[in-house]
Amino acid sequence: MASRVCLVHYHEVGLKGKNRAHFEHILIDTIKAACAAFSVATCARISGHILVTFSEPGDAERAFPVICRVPGVARVSLAFHTNREPGEYCRAAIRALGEVASFESFKVAAKRSNTDYPLGSLELNAQVGEALCEAFPDKRVQMHKPDAVVHVLVVQGSVYVYARSERGVGGLPVGSAGKVVTLLSSGIDSPVATWLLARRGAVCVPVHFSGRPQTADTSEYLCQDIIRAYAPAIQIGRLYVVPFGDAQRQIALACPTSLRVIMYRRVMYAVAERIARLEDAKAIVTGESLGQVASQTLENIAAVNEMVSLPVLRPLIGSDKQEIIERAHEIGTYDISCETAPDCCTLFMPRAPETHARLEAVHEAWDAFDHDAMIEELVASVEYIDFPSSSYRPGKPVRERHEVLAPRG
Ligand code: ATP
Ligand code: MG
Repeated sequence: MASRVCLVHYHEVGLKGKNRAHFEHILIDTIKAACAAFSVATCARISGHILVTFSEPGDAERAFPVICRVPGVARVSLAFHTNREPGEYCRAAIRALGEVASFESFKVAAKRSNTDYPLGSLELNAQVGEALCEAFPDKRVQMHKPDAVVHVLVVQGSVYVYARSERGVGGLPVGSAGKVVTLLSSGIDSPVATWLLARRGAVCVPVHFSGRPQTADTSEYLCQDIIRAYAPAIQIGRLYVVPFGDAQRQIALACPTSLRVIMYRRVMYAVAERIARLEDAKAIVTGESLGQVASQTLENIAAVNEMVSLPVLRPLIGSDKQEIIERAHEIGTYDISCETAPDCCTLFMPRAPETHARLEAVHEAWDAFDHDAMIEELVASVEYIDFPSSSYRPGKPVRERHEVLAPRG
């Protein structure tokens, strides 16, 4: 009797030469973590794939869409696992093809990874093809661009047969590309920017600036919902929250109205960089997109960027809003981002923000309040909320000054 397994394909990881084994380990670990709710029996490398087997019937089918969303996964196939008995794998091939929703033409693509199997791949194609032609007499075999392909993979004592196969999200396994701090609002853009960095293998540590105590803490809950929407395929381990309302009020009182937003951003960047240093993160990520709003002109980006020396990554800088919205739908954050929440962005917002700030004016406004003391105070008031994650580990400086950063009560 055939059992169901997931066969994971991972192109890009395969390209990484000498690092390959390391990447495969991380990918295996992240797949296991993503499948923690299922009865995973084995998750291991076989013949250029990762094989995931389950002890409970139905779990392979349930885990299949989850594994598709794990970064580093190029493709997942929902396969039947049989022994080398031709009767067994031919029956599995009939079931596999029967699962394809609608097709007129098909072919068999057999591959053996061991030469100790008596049949070569051409003979296997013919053998399985014959069984399928008998079972599906009204369908035709077609070598070029068939509607369905039944793959037969012989590996040692086992045969894996599948026709159902879906593209994964691609990218690299989380944890293979270092750590970044991401500026996470509860808006549409920054959840997508964070996801894109995680998809490229970075461990993301989001920092959210809340309008608290001047506003309610709704935006903080939306950020938590966003983090839960990434899971279990992407597991964010910790969210930092900075109560920013009082500082904003202070800035609003001291600085020209049109430069407020730039002042807020400069403080946010400075605090984010301090958290990045504590976390051993190597870059700061934002959801900025060129020209999308007043604060995102080249002049204003420069006026904010000068606050930090770590690289600032802006994965959406060249994206149109519509593209970002489509991605937000795909990753499941759009509806959360559409819930309204007063956060620091809506607090003390000027009606006519400066769009092309002159640095001289920016520096003058910056010196109109005790920015150093403000940044110190904000860093001292940072709170955090932890989530289950297999890839996040606090940076060494955080571990050492744990008592300074308070978990959210
Ligand atoms: P988003 O949709 O990500 O909120 P936005 O279109 O509202 O972006 P801005 O308000 O100019 O644009 O924010 C630009 C970037 O600054 C955001 O993408 C995010 O990375 C960061 N940012 C803005 N507000 C916050 C916040 N409250 N907390 C953390 N980061 C923020
Ligand atoms: Mg926003």
